Amino acid sequence: MKQLSLELLLLTLLVLILATVPYLIFIPLILWYFVSQDRKQQSIDDYNSTHTYTPQEYITPYMPYELYQQYLKSSKWKILRLRALQRDSYTCQHCKTEGDTNSLHVHHLTYKRLGDEHLDDLLTLCPTCHKKVHSN
Ligand SMILES: [Zn+2]
Ligand SMILES: [Zn+2]
Repeated sequence: MKQLSLELLLLTLLVLILATVPYLIFIPLILWYFVSQDRKQQSIDDYNSTHTYTPQEYITPYMPYELYQQYLKSSKWKILRLRALQRDSYTCQHCKTEGDTNSLHVHHLTYKRLGDEHLDDLLTLCPTCHKKVHSN
């Protein structure tokens, strides 16, 4: 009787281990998928925050620069940005180059209402025209 229950225990363990193996393979795969998705989003965020061409001194009177960097990652800005892109038909308003959400920039015509911009404060530009605007 004692021998039988030991065999039963070992069998149960074996079944448990076999049942766990697929999870051991799939859980890291699923986790990896989510981590890589997160990295993708992170790279878009990095792109947005490093391609603003905005000199710090313009921003600071209206909003501390660190807060502005945070603001660019907020959903409020992302929605505003999309609305500006849609209004401008995803086209650079200077050279009429067409683009998409990632390739086009949304330029601030004024920082007066920073954080609470009107749609008229924003303008869709391609990276080249955006750089020109800020170097003038
Ligand atoms: Zn352009
Ligand atoms: Zn700009």
